[in-house]
Amino acid sequence: MSETEKLTEEIAARREDLIALTQDLIRIPTRNPPGENYREICDYLDRRLRRGGFATEFVRAEGAPGDSDRTPRWNIVARRPGARPGPCVHFNAHIDVVTEGAGWTRDPFGGALEDGRIYGRGACDMKGGLAAAIVAAEAFVACHPDHAGAIEISGTADEESGGFGGVAHLAERGWFAPDRVQHVIIPEPLNKDRICLGHRGVWWAEIETKGEIAHGSMPFLGDCAVRHMGALIAEMEERLFPALAEKRTEMPVVPEGARQSTLNINSIHGGAPEQAADDTGLPAPCVPDRCRMVIDRRFLIEEDVEEVRAEVLRLLRGLQDRRAGFDYELRELFRVLPTMTAREAPVVTAVAGAVHAVFGRAAEYVVSPGTYDQKHIDRIGRLRNCIAYGPGILDLAHKPDEWVGVEDMVQSAQVMALALRELLTA
Ligand SMILES: [Zn+2]
Repeated sequence: MSETEKLTEEIAARREDLIALTQDLIRIPTRNPPGENYREICDYLDRRLRRGGFATEFVRAEGAPGDSDRTPRWNIVARRPGARPGPCVHFNAHIDVVTEGAGWTRDPFGGALEDGRIYGRGACDMKGGLAAAIVAAEAFVACHPDHAGAIEISGTADEESGGFGGVAHLAERGWFAPDRVQHVIIPEPLNKDRICLGHRGVWWAEIETKGEIAHGSMPFLGDCAVRHMGALIAEMEERLFPALAEKRTEMPVVPEGARQSTLNINSIHGGAPEQAADDTGLPAPCVPDRCRMVIDRRFLIEEDVEEVRAEVLRLLRGLQDRRAGFDYELRELFRVLPTMTAREAPVVTAVAGAVHAVFGRAAEYVVSPGTYDQKHIDRIGRLRNCIAYGPGILDLAHKPDEWVGVEDMVQSAQVMALALRELLTA
């Protein structure tokens, strides 16, 4: 039996353990918001990983958004050193899940196994990936106890709400510094034969147009903020959306439609607040004196974030010059720069080689349309050798009846273990 066969067999033999581990993780509901049961899941991971020879540390992100004594932001980092010096390979998984929502036909926190699929909130995003990484590490250590370097596994909070109580907190405190950690794999559900190199950038802003309140029967005595916002949307339709469609990227973003700049209008609110459903009264006749819009601009590695902002400001200033009474305020809410690990980076080539060994075909390289915790590892941790790779189908994330395939988990655990061998036994 070849070394590769020995390792993949070792993982295949742990199939039942992988199923049970995934079910146990799903059965600890870690809904975010509010960010519940983080300590419980960290305690569970602590027991499991210490049994496998890992030393563990608990890190609470005190003062992070949402952290309180009722919902403390707990993270766990586990490290297992090898027999000799070498690089550290770190698997990072978020422990939080989004709320289950309506429409389930199974218990969202039951972890039911049916026809080779495990069902539950977080099954694919990303407790299945975390379980696969743990089993991959344990099987690799069993086959190669004399390996070099170190393996780390972290379970981190709040990815679904920006990661500030999780990876960002750890990165700010040096946990992802390049002298500690050299390779990072984030087992998000990107499909077992795809390597995700990074993500597009994000720029969120709130734009407010201003008007003047007056009686609705004499709108000429006021100034309608909603009409001013309408003028801005007309400008966007005329100039901005066509310009964004022209901005194509070399990043291999999936799905294909996201291989360009995009902008979503998240919300618009103007005039009197909407009445409650049980309020049978009529609205008052007022000219809206303000209107607010939240925009979500996703940008490319070829673009500069200042230019992304300037593009919107140019529309607003143009309207201010041409349109009587047009006044606005722009508030930036959030920005994340795009990131993309090079295809030649060692963690990429190691995982690509392992995908080839398990599936007999080349890995597909992709970039995510939205962001995930890689942003903090890159921007705060300054570590560029980071990818997302893990089992599960991204489209199922956050949906009712979310599931992860057992065979997909086994195979991606095999890929992870072979990548460990490439990085830690050379
Ligand atoms: Zn996720």
